Amino acid sequence: MYHDDLHQAAEYAHAAVASMTRFSIPPTPINFTIWYEYHAGRDPALSRAIDALLAAGTSFTPDTTLQLYEEYLNPARMLRASRETTEKLQEAMDELRNFVGAAEQETRTYGDKLEDFSDSLDKQGHAPAFGSLVGAMLQETRSMQERNQSLEDRLAETTAEVQQLREHFEQARRESLSDSLTGLANRKNFEQTLSLLTKAAQDSAEPLTLMLLDIDHFKLFNDRHGHQTGDTVLQLVARTLSDNVKGQDLAARYGGEEFALLLPRTRADQAVKLGDNIRALIATRKLVKRQSGETLGRITISAGVAEYRVGEALSSFVQRADAALYGAKREGRNRVVAATEGTSTLTETVLRS
Ligand code: GH3
Ligand code: MG
Ligand code: MG
Repeated sequence: MYHDDLHQAAEYAHAAVASMTRFSIPPTPINFTIWYEYHAGRDPALSRAIDALLAAGTSFTPDTTLQLYEEYLNPARMLRASRETTEKLQEAMDELRNFVGAAEQETRTYGDKLEDFSDSLDKQGHAPAFGSLVGAMLQETRSMQERNQSLEDRLAETTAEVQQLREHFEQARRESLSDSLTGLANRKNFEQTLSLLTKAAQDSAEPLTLMLLDIDHFKLFNDRHGHQTGDTVLQLVARTLSDNVKGQDLAARYGGEEFALLLPRTRADQAVKLGDNIRALIATRKLVKRQSGETLGRITISAGVAEYRVGEALSSFVQRADAALYGAKREGRNRVVAATEGTSTLTETVLRS
């Protein structure tokens, strides 16, 4: 089973590389994934699309391949599958290397013994025919040893290539889960983690709190100072968030100028304190434009906090935090509000600056 998998994976990988070479397609992980899938033939729609392009003699420009990728391959699913494949390949490579390494060691030991034997024959002055037979065996053993060595070297090279491929996939996976501007978890990552953490909270009966944070009057800030400066403010807020959470906590960019903190094992009142610390850190920070030294004043944030209720729908959980955030805006901004009871009704605890 294991060797079947390896054999097949290697076959598809070979065919993919051959096709990419034939059609002068750059060997990027995405292209490799497309052609690997094409040769594995698991997605008939993808195969048909490629066959049609081949029949029409269309050239595989980066646009064409990107389109194929977007249309036929779900990135999350494919990343997982590709990662599993490369992991399996790597395991098989390691096993093969160990196997060849052990064979090489055995051949060497055998050769050494044969050499000792040959020496002692020489010393004891046995018949020359017997001596030359042992000599021939010795020569064959040594050349076998060399072949093993070169096989081992090639395996080491291939293993390094597979390792690199794994790193590419790892990087692609990381990128698909993080926000490129701030480096925080992106919305997709947030949704996935929210789902995992609410399940964990349900199972462990431990608290889980969600905080949504939004920069106040950020449109005005952008209008005054430009979008680019606005971007550096988003990065500053993101850094303040990630510097002030730890362990299992997740800091995410929820939307444009909106952020989310998922805080396992944290009750609403504790989260309100944390949120207020973060709020104060941001509000007291004097913003100065790096190049010109121009003073940009200060910015503030508002936040809404909700503690998960066992059995509650995710949408209701998020909605309660969102309603609390709305409450913080309505109360005058630059504050943290906790939703205590009811679905989006605003019975709140307000923490003022
Ligand atoms: P409020 O206090 O009610 O939240 O007011 P606001 O102006 O912050 O809210 P609004 O929703 O009206 O505007 C959000 C602004 O955030 C608009 C947009 O220019 C800005 N924004 C969203 N994403 C980005 C981004 O990636 N970079 C920059 N620089 N600005 C962004
Ligand atoms: Mg805002
Ligand atoms: Mg907003």
